Amino acid sequence: MSVVVEARDLRRVYAIRRGLLRAPAQLQAVGGVSFSIEAGKTLAVVGESGCGKSTLARMVSLIEKPTEGSLRLDGSDAVSTPAADRRRLRQAVQLVFQNPYGSLNPRKKISAVLEDPLRINTGLNATERIERARAMLVQVGLRPEHANRYPHMFSGGQRQRIAIARALMLNPKLLVADEPVSALDVSIQAQVLNLLADLQAEFSLAYLFISHDLAVVRHIAHDVLVMYLGHVMEQGAKAKVFSRPLHPYTQALLASTPGVGSPAAQRIVLQGELPSPMNPPSGCVFSTRCPYAVERCRAERPVPQKVDERLVACHFSTQFLESGFPASAGPNNASRSA
Ligand code: SF4
Repeated sequence: MSVVVEARDLRRVYAIRRGLLRAPAQLQAVGGVSFSIEAGKTLAVVGESGCGKSTLARMVSLIEKPTEGSLRLDGSDAVSTPAADRRRLRQAVQLVFQNPYGSLNPRKKISAVLEDPLRINTGLNATERIERARAMLVQVGLRPEHANRYPHMFSGGQRQRIAIARALMLNPKLLVADEPVSALDVSIQAQVLNLLADLQAEFSLAYLFISHDLAVVRHIAHDVLVMYLGHVMEQGAKAKVFSRPLHPYTQALLASTPGVGSPAAQRIVLQGELPSPMNPPSGCVFSTRCPYAVERCRAERPVPQKVDERLVACHFSTQFLESGFPASAGPNNASRSA
């Protein structure tokens, strides 16, 4: 399978103004994330609100430029590509948003919503455009006559099908889906996820799937990237990460979602709030909430390393693999030593 997107050490830093007399503060939303996605595969990015996953999605969909790092899309450099090539790349990557109603213009008929990308980017005539729009409606499980209706005449699930149809009108290689089912009822979520899986199989689409819901991620992902405060905590094949998470943060996320992950996994309950990205903890960014944190964690940032066929950013990942998580864990247990 060909690689559709390849990101290396992507970083995004914002300068936050703090008044006239103070220098701007630096907010690092994404602090060096690398991954690749092959055609026909799904990489799910998971983490709490504020972990940087949506910023990552905006960089990959070319809405924002990374501050540092490289991004290759469909074989081309997407960061410093010339304007002419950028247009082709923008067609190769399309977005599906969380709120399908907010992303559809309520004054436009569905036919116009679906035809607009073709009108702007292709030389198709009106007859060809409406034929393509109607065929795409059928492809996403709607009827051709739905083209004559307005967005408010559809249910939430149908509107998300329309948003997916619009994203596919230009035959993209990569779909970036930012919480695409979190606004839908659970029964409808499954239908939309099945539709995404069917479309992926038919068109060999690559998906970057942003979600905080591990039950959804388990359904759709091939690989998983767990983010915390802009950094990768654990990254690898879904089967590995879900059956035996090796990072305490992954353990905590899995423990907070009933019915997901291994029943034998250590149950870690997250305490406290996500720290501010403007003032991240020193050393390991998870150290203020990790029940296994020791002095070394607060002094030294763990570099992601390969353990049991996945990347883990924790000083003790090998010990956790060999002997499991210590049962005596307490809030920032200081009795353990490195
Ligand atoms: Fe916890 Fe230390 Fe591992 Fe960070 S490096 S996850 S604080 S044990």
